[in-house]
Amino acid sequence: MSTQTLNELLLAATECYQLNLTERAENLYAQALRINPRHAGALFNMGTLLLRRGVLKGDALVQDAFALDAGNEIDRNKAVHLLIQIYLAQAYKKHAQVWLEYAAIHQLEIPDFNALKKQIEIPAYLEKTIYSPAQKKQLERYSPIESNSYVYAIDIVGGCNLRCPTCPIGNKDGMAKGLMQKELFANILNKICMESGEYSPDIWLFNWSEPLLNERLPDYIKLIHSAQLTSFVSTNLNITHRINELMQANPTRLKVSISSLKQEIYGITHERGNINTVIANFETLALARDRNKSTTDIWIGHHLYKNTAEEMEQIQALANQFGFGYRPSYAIMAPIEKALSLIKKGDEKPSGIEAQLFFHPNSIVKNVKPKRSGNMDCELRFNMTAINYDGSVSLCCGTTQDLSEKANEKIYFMEHTTSKIEALKYQHSFCTVCIRNNLHLTIQDL
Ligand code: SF4
Ligand code: SF4
Repeated sequence: MSTQTLNELLLAATECYQLNLTERAENLYAQALRINPRHAGALFNMGTLLLRRGVLKGDALVQDAFALDAGNEIDRNKAVHLLIQIYLAQAYKKHAQVWLEYAAIHQLEIPDFNALKKQIEIPAYLEKTIYSPAQKKQLERYSPIESNSYVYAIDIVGGCNLRCPTCPIGNKDGMAKGLMQKELFANILNKICMESGEYSPDIWLFNWSEPLLNERLPDYIKLIHSAQLTSFVSTNLNITHRINELMQANPTRLKVSISSLKQEIYGITHERGNINTVIANFETLALARDRNKSTTDIWIGHHLYKNTAEEMEQIQALANQFGFGYRPSYAIMAPIEKALSLIKKGDEKPSGIEAQLFFHPNSIVKNVKPKRSGNMDCELRFNMTAINYDGSVSLCCGTTQDLSEKANEKIYFMEHTTSKIEALKYQHSFCTVCIRNNLHLTIQDL
Protein backbone atom coordinates (compact mmCIF):
# COMPACT_ATOMS: atom_id res chain seq x y z
CA MET A 1 0.00 0.00 0.00
CA SER A 2 1.34 3.48 -0.80
CA THR A 3 2.42 6.29 1.59
CA GLN A 4 -0.41 8.32 0.15
CA THR A 5 -2.88 5.71 1.40
CA LEU A 6 -1.33 5.86 4.86
CA ASN A 7 -1.66 9.63 4.90
CA GLU A 8 -5.25 9.41 3.72
CA LEU A 9 -6.05 6.96 6.48
CA LEU A 10 -4.41 9.17 9.09
CA LEU A 11 -6.25 12.25 7.88
CA ALA A 12 -9.60 10.47 7.95
CA ALA A 13 -8.84 8.99 11.38
CA THR A 14 -7.90 12.39 12.82
CA GLU A 15 -11.07 13.90 11.43
CA CYS A 16 -13.19 11.14 12.99
CA TYR A 17 -11.34 11.52 16.31
CA GLN A 18 -12.05 15.25 16.34
CA LEU A 19 -15.72 14.61 15.55
CA ASN A 20 -15.87 12.09 18.41
CA LEU A 21 -16.62 9.25 15.98
CA THR A 22 -14.40 7.09 18.15
CA GLU A 23 -15.28 3.66 16.76
CA ARG A 24 -14.59 4.75 13.20
CA ALA A 25 -11.38 6.54 14.25
CA GLU A 26 -10.14 3.41 16.04
CA ASN A 27 -10.79 1.34 12.96
CA LEU A 28 -8.90 3.77 10.71
CA TYR A 29 -5.90 3.99 13.09
CA ALA A 30 -5.80 0.19 13.23
CA GLN A 31 -5.58 0.12 9.41
CA ALA A 32 -2.86 2.80 9.45
CA LEU A 33 -0.84 0.91 12.06
CA ARG A 34 -0.97 -2.24 9.94
CA ILE A 35 0.86 -0.22 7.26
CA ASN A 36 3.28 1.48 9.66
CA PRO A 37 3.27 -0.02 13.17
CA ARG A 38 5.87 2.54 14.29
CA HIS A 39 3.90 5.67 13.46
CA ALA A 40 4.08 7.63 16.73
CA GLY A 41 1.03 9.85 16.15
CA ALA A 42 -1.18 6.91 15.18
CA LEU A 43 0.05 4.90 18.19
CA PHE A 44 -0.68 7.78 20.54
CA ASN A 45 -4.18 8.40 19.23
CA MET A 46 -4.97 4.69 19.11
CA GLY A 47 -3.72 4.42 22.70
CA THR A 48 -5.95 7.22 23.96
CA LEU A 49 -8.95 5.82 22.08
CA LEU A 50 -8.45 2.47 23.81
CA LEU A 51 -8.03 4.16 27.19
CA ARG A 52 -11.27 6.06 26.69
CA ARG A 53 -12.94 2.63 26.48
CA GLY A 54 -11.14 1.51 29.63
CA VAL A 55 -8.79 -0.80 27.67
CA LEU A 56 -5.51 -0.40 29.54
CA LYS A 57 -3.26 -1.79 26.82
CA GLY A 58 -3.70 1.70 25.33
CA ASP A 59 -1.15 2.88 27.90
CA ALA A 60 1.59 0.71 26.34
CA LEU A 61 0.76 2.17 22.91
CA VAL A 62 1.14 5.69 24.32
CA GLN A 63 4.50 4.79 25.84
CA ASP A 64 5.63 3.29 22.50
CA ALA A 65 4.50 6.47 20.77
CA PHE A 66 6.60 8.63 23.10
CA ALA A 67 9.63 6.36 22.62
CA LEU A 68 9.31 6.46 18.82
CA ASP A 69 8.62 10.18 18.63
CA ALA A 70 12.26 11.18 18.15
CA GLY A 71 11.32 14.57 16.69
CA ASN A 72 9.00 15.37 19.61
CA GLU A 73 6.11 15.89 17.23
CA ILE A 74 3.62 14.88 19.89
CA ASP A 75 3.10 17.83 22.25
CA ARG A 76 3.99 16.17 25.58
CA ASN A 77 2.25 18.86 27.67
CA LYS A 78 -1.08 18.36 25.92
CA ALA A 79 -0.63 14.59 25.57
CA VAL A 80 0.03 13.91 29.26
CA HIS A 81 -2.71 16.32 30.30
CA LEU A 82 -5.14 14.37 28.10
CA LEU A 83 -4.00 11.03 29.55
CA ILE A 84 -4.53 12.21 33.13
CA GLN A 85 -7.99 13.50 32.24
CA ILE A 86 -8.98 10.25 30.54
CA TYR A 87 -7.84 8.18 33.51
CA LEU A 88 -9.66 10.42 35.98
CA ALA A 89 -12.87 10.30 33.95
CA GLN A 90 -12.71 6.49 34.21
CA ALA A 91 -11.90 6.51 37.96
CA TYR A 92 -8.43 5.06 37.31
CA LYS A 93 -6.79 7.29 39.91
CA LYS A 94 -3.67 5.20 40.45
CA HIS A 95 -2.93 5.25 36.71
CA ALA A 96 -3.54 9.02 36.60
CA GLN A 97 -1.03 9.36 39.46
CA VAL A 98 1.69 7.66 37.38
CA TRP A 99 1.28 10.20 34.59
CA LEU A 100 1.09 13.09 37.03
CA GLU A 101 4.46 11.98 38.40
CA TYR A 102 5.77 11.70 34.82
CA ALA A 103 4.65 15.31 34.24
CA ALA A 104 6.47 16.45 37.38
CA ILE A 105 9.70 14.59 36.53
CA HIS A 106 9.73 15.90 32.95
CA GLN A 107 8.72 19.39 34.08
CA LEU A 108 5.76 19.46 31.73
CA GLU A 109 3.41 22.41 31.67
CA ILE A 110 0.06 21.02 32.76
CA PRO A 111 -2.39 23.94 33.04
CA ASP A 112 -4.35 22.72 36.08
CA PHE A 113 -1.54 20.68 37.66
CA ASN A 114 -2.38 21.54 41.28
CA ALA A 115 -6.12 20.94 40.81
CA LEU A 116 -5.39 17.56 39.21
CA LYS A 117 -2.94 16.73 42.01
CA LYS A 118 -5.71 17.47 44.52
CA GLN A 119 -7.99 15.04 42.68
CA ILE A 120 -5.34 12.33 42.82
CA GLU A 121 -3.45 12.67 46.11
CA ILE A 122 -4.99 11.13 49.22
CA PRO A 123 -6.05 13.99 51.53
CA ALA A 124 -4.08 14.35 54.78
CA TYR A 125 -7.11 13.56 56.95
CA LEU A 126 -7.25 9.99 55.59
CA GLU A 127 -5.00 7.10 56.56
CA LYS A 128 -3.60 5.66 53.34
CA THR A 129 -4.50 2.08 54.21
CA ILE A 130 -6.73 0.33 56.71
CA TYR A 131 -7.11 -3.21 58.00
CA SER A 132 -10.69 -4.36 57.52
CA PRO A 133 -11.68 -7.20 59.90
CA ALA A 134 -14.77 -7.92 57.78
CA GLN A 135 -12.74 -8.41 54.60
CA LYS A 136 -9.79 -9.82 56.57
CA LYS A 137 -7.26 -7.74 54.68
CA GLN A 138 -5.45 -4.46 54.42
CA LEU A 139 -7.24 -2.12 52.00
CA GLU A 140 -5.88 0.89 50.15
CA ARG A 141 -7.56 4.26 50.07
CA TYR A 142 -7.54 6.88 47.34
CA SER A 143 -8.49 10.50 46.79
CA PRO A 144 -12.32 10.41 46.95
CA ILE A 145 -14.31 10.76 43.73
CA GLU A 146 -17.44 12.30 45.26
CA SER A 147 -15.92 15.10 47.33
CA ASN A 148 -12.58 16.74 48.13
CA SER A 149 -13.56 16.87 51.80
CA TYR A 150 -14.87 14.38 54.33
CA VAL A 151 -18.67 14.22 54.00
CA TYR A 152 -21.34 14.15 56.68
CA ALA A 153 -24.67 13.32 55.03
CA ILE A 154 -27.28 14.38 57.58
CA ASP A 155 -30.92 13.56 57.01
CA ILE A 156 -32.67 16.53 58.60
CA VAL A 157 -35.91 14.81 57.58
CA GLY A 158 -36.92 11.18 57.82
CA GLY A 159 -39.11 10.82 54.74
CA CYS A 160 -39.88 12.33 51.37
CA ASN A 161 -42.87 13.63 49.46
CA LEU A 162 -41.98 11.34 46.52
CA ARG A 163 -41.58 7.57 46.15
CA CYS A 164 -38.85 7.04 43.55
CA PRO A 165 -38.45 3.36 42.67
CA THR A 166 -34.63 3.70 42.72
CA CYS A 167 -34.55 4.92 46.33
CA PRO A 168 -35.03 3.25 49.73
CA ILE A 169 -38.05 5.52 50.25
CA GLY A 170 -39.76 3.97 47.24
CA ASN A 171 -38.62 0.45 48.08
CA LYS A 172 -39.07 -0.01 51.77
CA ASP A 173 -42.33 0.23 53.66
CA GLY A 174 -42.36 1.73 57.08
CA MET A 175 -39.14 3.75 56.97
CA ALA A 176 -38.97 5.87 60.10
CA LYS A 177 -40.43 9.35 59.62
CA GLY A 178 -39.62 12.54 61.52
CA LEU A 179 -37.74 15.83 61.60
CA MET A 180 -34.32 16.52 63.08
CA GLN A 181 -34.70 19.08 65.87
CA LYS A 182 -32.53 22.20 65.97
CA GLU A 183 -30.78 21.35 69.24
CA LEU A 184 -29.76 17.93 67.98
CA PHE A 185 -28.52 19.40 64.70
CA ALA A 186 -26.46 22.04 66.56
CA ASN A 187 -24.96 19.40 68.85
CA ILE A 188 -24.06 17.15 65.92
CA LEU A 189 -22.44 20.08 64.13
CA ASN A 190 -20.41 21.00 67.24
CA LYS A 191 -19.18 17.44 67.60
CA ILE A 192 -18.24 17.32 63.91
CA CYS A 193 -16.26 20.59 64.27
CA MET A 194 -14.44 19.38 67.38
CA GLU A 195 -13.56 16.02 65.85
CA SER A 196 -12.49 17.39 62.46
CA GLY A 197 -9.67 19.53 63.84
CA GLU A 198 -8.02 21.56 61.12
CA TYR A 199 -9.83 19.76 58.27
CA SER A 200 -13.13 21.17 57.05
CA PRO A 201 -15.77 18.58 56.23
CA ASP A 202 -18.58 19.14 53.75
CA ILE A 203 -22.09 19.00 55.26
CA TRP A 204 -24.82 17.45 53.10
CA LEU A 205 -28.31 18.19 54.38
CA PHE A 206 -29.83 15.07 52.89
CA ASN A 207 -29.29 11.39 52.56
CA TRP A 208 -32.54 9.72 51.54
CA SER A 209 -35.00 12.53 52.18
CA GLU A 210 -36.39 15.82 50.95
CA PRO A 211 -34.72 18.57 53.04
CA LEU A 212 -37.29 21.24 52.07
CA LEU A 213 -39.80 19.36 54.25
CA ASN A 214 -37.95 20.68 57.32
CA GLU A 215 -38.87 24.32 57.97
CA ARG A 216 -35.57 24.69 59.87
CA LEU A 217 -33.52 24.03 56.71
CA PRO A 218 -32.46 27.72 56.29
CA ASP A 219 -31.41 27.85 59.98
CA TYR A 220 -29.31 24.71 59.57
CA ILE A 221 -27.56 26.17 56.51
CA LYS A 222 -26.74 29.33 58.49
CA LEU A 223 -25.38 27.25 61.38
CA ILE A 224 -23.12 25.34 58.99
CA HIS A 225 -21.78 28.56 57.49
CA SER A 226 -21.19 30.15 60.89
CA ALA A 227 -19.01 27.10 61.64
CA GLN A 228 -17.05 28.02 58.47
CA LEU A 229 -18.12 24.82 56.71
CA THR A 230 -19.70 24.23 53.29
CA SER A 231 -23.32 23.12 52.80
CA PHE A 232 -24.98 21.05 50.10
CA VAL A 233 -28.73 20.63 49.55
CA SER A 234 -30.33 18.21 47.09
CA THR A 235 -34.04 18.56 46.39
CA ASN A 236 -36.72 17.23 44.06
CA LEU A 237 -38.19 20.79 44.05
CA ASN A 238 -41.79 19.64 44.02
CA ILE A 239 -42.29 21.85 47.10
CA THR A 240 -42.96 25.50 46.35
CA HIS A 241 -42.83 27.11 49.78
CA ARG A 242 -39.48 27.93 51.48
CA ILE A 243 -37.67 28.55 48.18
CA ASN A 244 -37.10 32.22 49.05
CA GLU A 245 -35.88 31.38 52.59
CA LEU A 246 -33.60 28.74 51.08
CA MET A 247 -31.97 31.27 48.77
CA GLN A 248 -31.70 33.79 51.62
CA ALA A 249 -29.68 31.21 53.56
CA ASN A 250 -27.42 30.91 50.47
CA PRO A 251 -26.32 27.24 50.61
CA THR A 252 -22.94 26.55 49.02
CA ARG A 253 -24.40 24.05 46.54
CA LEU A 254 -27.92 23.12 45.46
CA LYS A 255 -28.85 20.24 43.17
CA VAL A 256 -32.31 19.70 41.69
CA SER A 257 -32.68 16.17 40.37
CA ILE A 258 -34.94 15.38 37.44
CA SER A 259 -35.05 12.64 34.83
CA SER A 260 -37.32 13.89 32.07
CA LEU A 261 -39.49 16.83 31.06
CA LYS A 262 -42.24 14.38 30.11
CA GLN A 263 -44.66 13.71 32.94
CA GLU A 264 -45.32 10.14 31.68
CA ILE A 265 -41.64 9.34 32.35
CA TYR A 266 -40.93 11.69 35.27
CA GLY A 267 -44.02 10.41 37.08
CA ILE A 268 -42.49 6.92 37.05
CA THR A 269 -38.88 7.75 37.99
CA HIS A 270 -40.11 10.34 40.54
CA GLU A 271 -43.35 8.70 41.60
CA ARG A 272 -45.85 11.22 43.04
CA GLY A 273 -43.85 14.08 41.47
CA ASN A 274 -45.06 16.59 38.90
CA ILE A 275 -42.52 17.93 36.40
CA ASN A 276 -44.66 20.99 35.61
CA THR A 277 -44.48 22.01 39.28
CA VAL A 278 -40.69 21.55 39.17
CA ILE A 279 -40.34 23.67 36.01
CA ALA A 280 -42.48 26.44 37.57
CA ASN A 281 -40.32 26.20 40.71
CA PHE A 282 -37.16 26.62 38.61
CA GLU A 283 -38.39 30.11 37.80
CA THR A 284 -39.25 30.82 41.46
CA LEU A 285 -35.78 29.57 42.43
CA ALA A 286 -33.98 31.73 39.84
CA LEU A 287 -35.96 34.82 40.92
CA ALA A 288 -35.26 34.13 44.60
CA ARG A 289 -31.55 33.63 43.83
CA ASP A 290 -31.39 37.00 42.05
CA ARG A 291 -33.52 38.81 44.63
CA ASN A 292 -31.30 37.60 47.47
CA LYS A 293 -28.06 37.98 45.48
CA SER A 294 -27.36 34.37 46.36
CA THR A 295 -24.02 32.91 45.27
CA THR A 296 -25.22 29.30 45.47
CA ASP A 297 -23.88 26.94 42.81
CA ILE A 298 -27.21 25.62 41.48
CA TRP A 299 -27.47 22.84 38.92
CA ILE A 300 -29.93 20.40 37.42
CA GLY A 301 -28.84 16.82 38.08
CA HIS A 302 -30.18 14.95 35.05
CA HIS A 303 -30.72 11.26 35.79
CA LEU A 304 -29.93 9.38 32.61
CA TYR A 305 -32.08 6.39 31.76
CA LYS A 306 -32.30 4.82 28.31
CA ASN A 307 -35.54 6.74 27.76
CA THR A 308 -34.31 10.09 29.15
CA ALA A 309 -30.83 10.44 27.60
CA GLU A 310 -32.36 11.86 24.41
CA GLU A 311 -33.50 14.92 26.41
CA MET A 312 -29.96 15.98 27.36
CA GLU A 313 -29.83 18.99 25.05
CA GLN A 314 -33.32 20.11 25.97
CA ILE A 315 -32.70 19.92 29.71
CA GLN A 316 -29.34 21.63 29.34
CA ALA A 317 -31.08 24.46 27.46
CA LEU A 318 -33.62 24.75 30.28
CA ALA A 319 -30.79 24.94 32.84
CA ASN A 320 -29.07 27.65 30.77
CA GLN A 321 -32.32 29.62 30.58
CA PHE A 322 -32.33 29.98 34.38
CA GLY A 323 -28.56 30.35 34.77
CA PHE A 324 -28.25 26.92 36.40
CA GLY A 325 -25.53 24.36 35.72
CA TYR A 326 -26.31 21.03 34.06
CA ARG A 327 -24.72 17.79 35.32
CA PRO A 328 -25.97 14.51 33.89
CA SER A 329 -25.30 11.20 35.62
CA TYR A 330 -26.42 7.62 35.04
CA ALA A 331 -29.29 6.51 37.24
CA ILE A 332 -28.44 3.61 39.53
CA MET A 333 -30.59 1.22 41.52
CA ALA A 334 -30.68 1.85 45.27
CA PRO A 335 -30.61 0.83 48.01
CA ILE A 336 -27.88 -1.79 47.69
CA GLU A 337 -30.33 -4.38 49.06
CA LYS A 338 -32.55 -3.80 46.00
CA ALA A 339 -29.58 -4.13 43.64
CA LEU A 340 -28.60 -7.39 45.38
CA SER A 341 -32.12 -8.76 44.97
CA LEU A 342 -31.97 -8.00 41.22
CA ILE A 343 -28.59 -9.75 40.95
CA LYS A 344 -30.03 -12.74 42.80
CA LYS A 345 -32.97 -12.80 40.39
CA GLY A 346 -30.45 -12.82 37.52
CA ASP A 347 -33.09 -11.41 35.24
CA GLU A 348 -31.94 -11.68 31.61
CA LYS A 349 -34.75 -9.49 30.36
CA PRO A 350 -35.61 -6.89 32.99
CA SER A 351 -38.82 -4.92 32.62
CA GLY A 352 -40.19 -1.59 33.84
CA ILE A 353 -37.72 0.93 35.23
CA GLU A 354 -35.01 -1.74 35.52
CA ALA A 355 -35.04 -2.14 31.74
CA GLN A 356 -34.32 1.58 31.41
CA LEU A 357 -31.10 1.48 33.46
CA PHE A 358 -27.87 1.87 31.46
CA PHE A 359 -26.10 -0.04 34.24
CA HIS A 360 -28.30 -2.81 35.53
CA PRO A 361 -26.79 -4.39 38.68
CA ASN A 362 -26.21 -7.60 36.67
CA SER A 363 -24.07 -5.76 34.15
CA ILE A 364 -22.12 -3.96 36.91
CA VAL A 365 -21.02 -7.32 38.29
CA LYS A 366 -19.94 -8.47 34.84
CA ASN A 367 -18.25 -5.25 33.63
CA VAL A 368 -16.74 -3.78 36.77
CA LYS A 369 -15.30 -6.85 38.45
CA PRO A 370 -12.45 -7.39 35.92
CA LYS A 371 -11.34 -3.77 36.47
CA ARG A 372 -10.96 -4.03 40.25
CA SER A 373 -8.32 -5.85 42.26
CA GLY A 374 -10.46 -6.07 45.40
CA ASN A 375 -7.68 -4.30 47.34
CA MET A 376 -9.28 -0.84 47.40
CA ASP A 377 -11.46 0.45 50.20
CA CYS A 378 -15.02 1.73 49.65
CA GLU A 379 -15.37 5.49 49.55
CA LEU A 380 -18.82 5.49 51.14
CA ARG A 381 -17.15 3.90 54.14
CA PHE A 382 -13.88 5.85 54.41
CA ASN A 383 -15.04 9.31 53.36
CA MET A 384 -18.58 9.64 54.62
CA THR A 385 -20.74 9.29 57.71
CA ALA A 386 -24.51 9.12 57.17
CA ILE A 387 -26.62 10.35 60.08
CA ASN A 388 -30.37 9.77 60.32
CA TYR A 389 -32.91 12.40 61.41
CA ASP A 390 -32.97 10.93 64.95
CA GLY A 391 -29.19 11.20 65.31
CA SER A 392 -28.51 7.50 64.75
CA VAL A 393 -25.79 6.46 62.31
CA SER A 394 -26.37 4.36 59.18
CA LEU A 395 -23.79 1.97 57.79
CA CYS A 396 -23.53 4.18 54.70
CA CYS A 397 -25.61 6.28 52.34
CA GLY A 398 -26.17 3.34 49.98
CA THR A 399 -28.10 1.08 52.32
CA THR A 400 -30.82 1.14 54.95
CA GLN A 401 -28.63 -0.97 57.31
CA ASP A 402 -28.12 0.32 60.82
CA LEU A 403 -24.50 0.68 61.90
CA SER A 404 -25.06 -1.85 64.67
CA GLU A 405 -25.78 -5.42 63.58
CA LYS A 406 -27.48 -6.20 66.89
CA ALA A 407 -31.28 -6.34 66.63
CA ASN A 408 -33.02 -3.20 67.93
CA GLU A 409 -29.73 -1.47 68.74
CA LYS A 410 -28.96 1.96 67.31
CA ILE A 411 -25.66 3.75 67.41
CA TYR A 412 -26.22 7.44 68.10
CA PHE A 413 -23.67 9.89 66.69
CA MET A 414 -23.61 11.98 69.88
CA GLU A 415 -22.88 8.98 72.11
CA HIS A 416 -19.86 7.50 70.36
CA THR A 417 -16.39 8.55 69.31
CA THR A 418 -15.37 8.68 65.67
CA SER A 419 -13.04 5.74 66.21
CA LYS A 420 -15.89 3.59 67.60
CA ILE A 421 -18.12 4.51 64.66
CA GLU A 422 -15.33 3.78 62.17
CA ALA A 423 -14.54 0.45 63.84
CA LEU A 424 -18.18 -0.64 63.56
CA LYS A 425 -18.24 0.21 59.84
CA TYR A 426 -15.23 -2.02 59.20
CA GLN A 427 -16.73 -4.94 61.12
CA HIS A 428 -20.09 -4.84 59.37
CA SER A 429 -20.91 -8.07 57.52
CA PHE A 430 -23.09 -6.28 54.95
CA CYS A 431 -19.99 -4.59 53.48
CA THR A 432 -18.54 -8.01 52.71
CA VAL A 433 -21.66 -8.93 50.71
CA CYS A 434 -21.70 -5.56 48.98
CA ILE A 435 -18.00 -5.69 48.02
CA ARG A 436 -18.29 -9.31 46.87
CA ASN A 437 -20.94 -8.14 44.41
CA ASN A 438 -18.94 -5.05 43.39
CA LEU A 439 -21.70 -2.68 44.41
CA HIS A 440 -19.41 -0.51 46.56
CA LEU A 441 -17.97 2.83 45.44
CA THR A 442 -14.29 2.51 44.64
CA ILE A 443 -11.78 3.21 41.87
CA GLN A 444 -10.67 0.91 39.07
CA ASP A 445 -7.13 -0.37 39.45
CA LEU A 446 -6.67 -3.32 37.07
S1 SF4 B 1 -36.83 12.50 45.74
FE1 SF4 B 1 -34.92 11.69 46.51
S2 SF4 B 1 -35.30 11.08 48.64
FE2 SF4 B 1 -37.29 11.39 47.62
S3 SF4 B 1 -37.90 9.34 46.99
FE3 SF4 B 1 -36.86 10.34 45.27
S4 SF4 B 1 -34.67 9.73 45.45
FE4 SF4 B 1 -35.71 9.29 47.40
S1 SF4 C 1 -19.00 -1.56 51.13
FE1 SF4 C 1 -21.13 -1.25 50.46
S2 SF4 C 1 -22.34 -1.34 52.32
FE2 SF4 C 1 -20.21 -1.02 52.93
S3 SF4 C 1 -19.96 1.18 53.10
FE3 SF4 C 1 -19.39 0.64 51.01
S4 SF4 C 1 -21.25 0.87 49.79
FE4 SF4 C 1 -21.82 0.82 51.95
